[in-house]
Amino acid sequence: ITDRIAALPPGAAYFSLEFFPPKTQMGFANLQARLERMARALRPLFVTVTWGAGGSTAAKSLELAELCQRQLGLTTCLHLTCTNMDRTLIDEALEQAKALGIRNILALRGDPPRSEEYREEGLAAENDSNREFQWAIDLVRYIKKQHRNYFCVGVAAYPEGHSDQSHPEHQDPLFDLPFLIEKAKAGADFIMTQLFFDVEAYKKYEAMLRNHESGVFKDIPIIPGLMPIQSYQILRRTTKLSHAKLPQEMLARLDAVKGDDEAVKRVGIDILSEIVEDIQATSGGGSHRGYHFYTLNLEKAVSHIVERCSLIPPDEEEEGNDEAVIVDGSSG
Ligand code: FAD
Repeated sequence: ITDRIAALPPGAAYFSLEFFPPKTQMGFANLQARLERMARALRPLFVTVTWGAGGSTAAKSLELAELCQRQLGLTTCLHLTCTNMDRTLIDEALEQAKALGIRNILALRGDPPRSEEYREEGLAAENDSNREFQWAIDLVRYIKKQHRNYFCVGVAAYPEGHSDQSHPEHQDPLFDLPFLIEKAKAGADFIMTQLFFDVEAYKKYEAMLRNHESGVFKDIPIIPGLMPIQSYQILRRTTKLSHAKLPQEMLARLDAVKGDDEAVKRVGIDILSEIVEDIQATSGGGSHRGYHFYTLNLEKAVSHIVERCSLIPPDEEEEGNDEAVIVDGSSG
């Protein structure tokens, strides 16, 4: 990913798309068709494939990652969590990723360690990942130790805090900062953020990282996470789960049309496009601005947004350039 970012023309913006593995074969077939269309029409710089906490989707995540990397020729990043699962699963996932030609891992913690519960479920204690991996940084260090620089490693960051007293974990950008610094020092190659709608909070957060006295965030790609609005209900649910604040002005625009699904989608596309344009207008510290879209495996909203914001790169194949890499290997 970082090589591909560095190879972009000066000042060029890029975007990436996140997908999760469908539960059924039918769902997989539908997503495959959609992915083929999106790869050809949108040409993302890379795609990411989620990993179910505790390894719950291991086989399906690898199957989807294989489709993306091998069949569609997309630069693929596999998410990988490190707690609450058999440690050998981490080694197997990294080996399989390697065998598939995947060079990018988003190193995550997953849910907080729950050792006792897992032991009760019969997980062999010596293979309990919670002994070795308590936080994402343990996985970053492990990947760098075992695989040196074979993998380009990304880490998660959270631009917004929350004051939800019922939530078991603290979330606060300042509280997290020392740990994010450690992740960067351990060799993280890029940072990808939690979804947000509050652009001012994001800009403040990004400036805090870029200007940090340690200098560790000076050049590292920081990729803001954005979620296209698919429906009013999904939006309210995901903002609650992710603790992303919905600014009053956006909420009012969506509230005004909340009974009309098509209108919500249209307003959502306007809102997301405005967020991209707003961030695009500020200097990112590095020479390339990137945007990561949580697609929820859906095609339309994100397609409208990247098109409207002129994020789709030229089709090098169509221009007769033999060096096309993004859709290399696809039927396109
Ligand atoms: P960490 O960096 O380990 O941080 C977790 C918490 O621990 C933070 O509060 C931090 O401040 C604290 N902390 C860190 N290190 C220390 C330390 N040494 N001492 C004390 N406290 C410490 N989850 C999935 O299950 N599957 C996915 O595919 C997935 N994809 C994601 C993609 C993105 C872009 C993001 C932002 C999140 C994703 N998540 C995913 C969710 C993620 O697993 C959770 O948010 C998790 O609770 C924290 O993961 P982390 O990697 O940020 O953890």
